[in-house]
Amino acid sequence: MSENSNAPTLENGLATDLIHDGILRSQFGETSEGLYLTSGYVYDSAEQAEARFKGKDDGFIYSRYANPTVAMFESRMCALEGAEMARATASGMAAVTATMLCQLSAGDHVVAAKALFGSCRYVIEDLLPRFGIGMTLVDGKDLGQWEAAMRPNTKILFLESPTNPTLEVVDIEGVAKIANAGDALLVVDNVFATPLHQRPLALGAHIVVYSATKHIDGQGRCLGGVVLGSEEFIMGKLHNFLRQTGPSISPFNAWVMLKGLETLPLRVARHVETASQIAEYLHNEAKITRVLYPGHKSHPQHDLAMQQMGSGGPMVAFEVAGGKAAAFKFSNALRIIRISNNLGDAKSLITHPSTTTHQRLSEEARLELDITDALLRISVGLEDTADLIRDIDAGLAAI
Ligand SMILES: *Cc1c(COP(=O)(O)O)cnc(C)c1O
Repeated sequence: MSENSNAPTLENGLATDLIHDGILRSQFGETSEGLYLTSGYVYDSAEQAEARFKGKDDGFIYSRYANPTVAMFESRMCALEGAEMARATASGMAAVTATMLCQLSAGDHVVAAKALFGSCRYVIEDLLPRFGIGMTLVDGKDLGQWEAAMRPNTKILFLESPTNPTLEVVDIEGVAKIANAGDALLVVDNVFATPLHQRPLALGAHIVVYSATKHIDGQGRCLGGVVLGSEEFIMGKLHNFLRQTGPSISPFNAWVMLKGLETLPLRVARHVETASQIAEYLHNEAKITRVLYPGHKSHPQHDLAMQQMGSGGPMVAFEVAGGKAAAFKFSNALRIIRISNNLGDAKSLITHPSTTTHQRLSEEARLELDITDALLRISVGLEDTADLIRDIDAGLAAI
């Protein structure tokens, strides 16, 4: 196996890197990246096996540790994120959980924004305390709350921005400064902004995590996750944790993600363009009482969003007049936009967070996060914008 002799250089643009970076070509010279569906590897000699286990011979040992297809995906993710190193995982939640557990011990403390993807909130709020790890949840928009929550034993600050499902924007640079002052690490879950529109490492974050299941796959086929950060963190903490505990991504899923990266810039540009048109359309509709889209000038943090994300992103949230009954009528009348809790698909998907993704929270916790019964969230797909708007019109007519 050899590295591509026309390997991209630092001067190449991102679209070029996302097509060429990290290719490991076999002796067959295949154009498309090879799919190495193998759990193990053979050695030329017992001496080579010994050297490889001692780390004196580069090469693969077992696919729970590393695999050529997975390595290509990790390398291309590093090019995208500007990270020193990456590790792919079986799902986004495996990435989040491993990032926490590989470096926290009983007695440590974590500060996180309240508004989190449901399972991320479970990990912070329910799982970590079972192992003696303290946590404080804050309003992510309020830097004063982050600062006040810091303790001498705070090791990790965790946030997502924009948040799910209300699309609030957290000041990543501001929180990174608080993390640095407290000698802690800032971990950013960057799914909702997509890696093309928000670069947490450049804003001072130390670790970035993704559910690759979303826009990186982009067609709703495979689960996967990625953790990116410094070589010191990945090799010093994460690599051994993943190797010993085993939340490995299938080479097949990594291959799908790797190929997904080739078209990511085209797809995300289209998602964002259509999302901003839908937000503008909803804004002018009487039966829509509130539109939450960071790219729209009505968003309370529009300036910060533009500065930090450079676009409004691919997700749109809004409230309909008439609460849950109206939200259900709207959703049930749609024919193109399908009801699903997933996101980041070519297909536009709508969800009613208070009865699905966030039903686990108490009503009080939901209202604290502004997740009302009237709230709907659309993951904008790649369909013709005019068709999506016609579908939304049908939804409005049903209210
Ligand atoms: C989907 C998602 C996750 C979890 O990812 P899975 O691949 O489903 O495990 C975590 N965070 C955010 C923001 C997500 O959208």
